[in-house]
Amino acid sequence: MRSPIPDYLADVVDRCRSDHSGRLADYIPPLAEVEPDVTALALSTVDGTVYAVGDADLEFTIQSISKPFVYALALAEHGIDAVLGRVGVEPSGEAFNELSLESGSARPYNPMINAGALTIHALIGGPELDEETRFARVLAALGRFAGRDLEVDEAIYEAEVTTAHRNHAIAYMLRNHDIITDDPRSVVRGYVRQCAVRVTVRDLALMAATLAHGGVHPVTGEQVVSRAVARHVLSVMATCGMYDAAGDWLSSIGIPAKSGVSGGIIGALPGQTGVASFSPRLDDHGHSVRGVTMFRQLSRDMGMHLMEVPAPARSMVAGSDGDAWRYELQGSINFVGMERVLRTFDEDPPVHDRIVIDLTRVHEIRKVGRRMLHEAIRRLVLDGREVEVHDPDGLLAEPGTIEVGRDPDRREPVRIEVTD
Ligand code: GLU
Repeated sequence: MRSPIPDYLADVVDRCRSDHSGRLADYIPPLAEVEPDVTALALSTVDGTVYAVGDADLEFTIQSISKPFVYALALAEHGIDAVLGRVGVEPSGEAFNELSLESGSARPYNPMINAGALTIHALIGGPELDEETRFARVLAALGRFAGRDLEVDEAIYEAEVTTAHRNHAIAYMLRNHDIITDDPRSVVRGYVRQCAVRVTVRDLALMAATLAHGGVHPVTGEQVVSRAVARHVLSVMATCGMYDAAGDWLSSIGIPAKSGVSGGIIGALPGQTGVASFSPRLDDHGHSVRGVTMFRQLSRDMGMHLMEVPAPARSMVAGSDGDAWRYELQGSINFVGMERVLRTFDEDPPVHDRIVIDLTRVHEIRKVGRRMLHEAIRRLVLDGREVEVHDPDGLLAEPGTIEVGRDPDRREPVRIEVTD
């Protein structure tokens, strides 16, 4: 069978081809000369299948879509708290190139607007690093997110850097408040170069999927940034990625996203997909008109909204198995799944004293689930039950005797057997 997914995506592209509204960005002269009707769409699953349709091989400059990824690099280099001390995470409700800083702290509001992105660029490698080395780091990181080496479009870089008066104004404002300490002209050059990196929708879909996959590239398998960094970046994309249209985007489309002035948009749905669209005509917020339409349709047709309520997973079946009472846990054991398990232990206690907890059908135990399971087992043992855990994938522990906590009366560890 040929997968229907490429046909579906091609249909999404075709449906918006009759829409010629919006305007090409013209403040960077070469962007005003592109073919306005090109349209492409790509979707990458978190296990590395990429579907790309329309003008999918076309390269264009990444522009502001570079911001979340360079932000991720800064977070990985300096830690989340240190970066938060320099750039906030509050939506500004303003356009991308607003000359504004948070009152009091004088921090840029968030890393998705230019004031924040210039500050983040200057953080890479610390203040002592020379412009070329810093840019090489940025380019290498963008390449790791894409899974291939990327290049700069020198013509676009030259055109933008000679007209980047507003970005110079922002950088000097940042220098004036000591938010950056480097030469503002050098920071603008580096940032504009970062915006001029060439990508395709396939690259962008994989970059977004890397964030959606907890920082792990779906194809190369490289842990590009930590899970905590990926989660933080997705949160900031959700609240600030679409500038002054962020609230409307999150409520109606519901996918953490970032757009760029050359016509790209990425969306990353945690644990599911990375999506990227390209079409250069922009609406008044600076977002691709056809891109917004395509994302709207994907979200509607595929139930991709972040706030979509998932069907509750059945996390456990229980029953008698010879002389033991067997609990078979299933799926991903997080707080909610484990709460149901604990409630069952409490409200519907095992009928035998010997208990087998079978984790064969569990594919993941989150840290909170592990802690809750340890505590539940400890309490079952203290209630006089004999507990054995069947754990072939070693999710709770490797085979052997493990300690699940202490017996407060006898002041000794509570131990149980784990088998594979
Ligand atoms: N290079 C652009 C700028 O800073 C990026 C803006 C965008 O893509 O929204 O002006």
